[in-house]
Amino acid sequence: MLLKVENLSVHYDGMQALGGVSLEVHEGETVSIVGSNGAGKSTLINSISGTRKLSGGKIFFEGKDITAIPAHERVPMGIVQVPEGRRLFPLMSVEENLLLGSVHKEAKKYRNETLQEVYQLLPRLEERKNQVAKTLSGGEQQMVAIGRALMSRPKLLMFDEPSLGLSPLLVKNLFALIQQISQRGITIMLVEQNVKQTLQIVDRSYVLENGLITIEGTGRDLLNDSHVKKAFLGM
Ligand code: ATP
Repeated sequence: MLLKVENLSVHYDGMQALGGVSLEVHEGETVSIVGSNGAGKSTLINSISGTRKLSGGKIFFEGKDITAIPAHERVPMGIVQVPEGRRLFPLMSVEENLLLGSVHKEAKKYRNETLQEVYQLLPRLEERKNQVAKTLSGGEQQMVAIGRALMSRPKLLMFDEPSLGLSPLLVKNLFALIQQISQRGITIMLVEQNVKQTLQIVDRSYVLENGLITIEGTGRDLLNDSHVKKAFLGM
């Protein structure tokens, strides 16, 4: 077991955003969290990366209780999030942005090797390595954000709405890229609005509604679930 979340709750100013969420992610799996707007998906991912204060529950990573470990110490442990909205350094080059992903000790040791791996996976970034980030297209910026996350050598890579604002073709490429990353042995947690495409590529998924897990199953189970069909697939 790579990640175990136990009875997690989060409140914002007394308002409950997560009301006791439990889930598990095994090493090598790709797992998604689907749910409508405001269901608590981002809150859940941010809790796992350590940027949200919990009001209850525990988080275990590789069997270790990490609930009290701050976010910046979770990254070297292998818990890495590709942030929603990308957040690149606009005036730095593609390569400078990528290298900023490998500032912790363990990642630094393998920096050149990882950079070559990232370029192999995303050849477009190597072609544009000297280009200033702010002049990249939206899709290219998204690739840099993913490449930068990979530079920190994650064990668990979490994506929050990575397809936001991308054209259908780029969304298709993004899903293919996520599958390629998974094939490299990285465990993936994916929050996505494109429920159908997501359920087609994941091993398992959880449905989050009003801060609670309501359904859990394989991608195929959920594609055939009558509630999922009605609520998220427009069928
Ligand atoms: P979306 O798909 O729209 O991004 P989500 O499932 O990711 O939604 P969250 O962003 O986790 O949902 O929000 C869950 C609930 O918590 C929502 O009701 C939201 O308004 C509330 N919330 C989120 N962040 C804050 C905050 N910083 N302060 C107050 N309330 C917040």
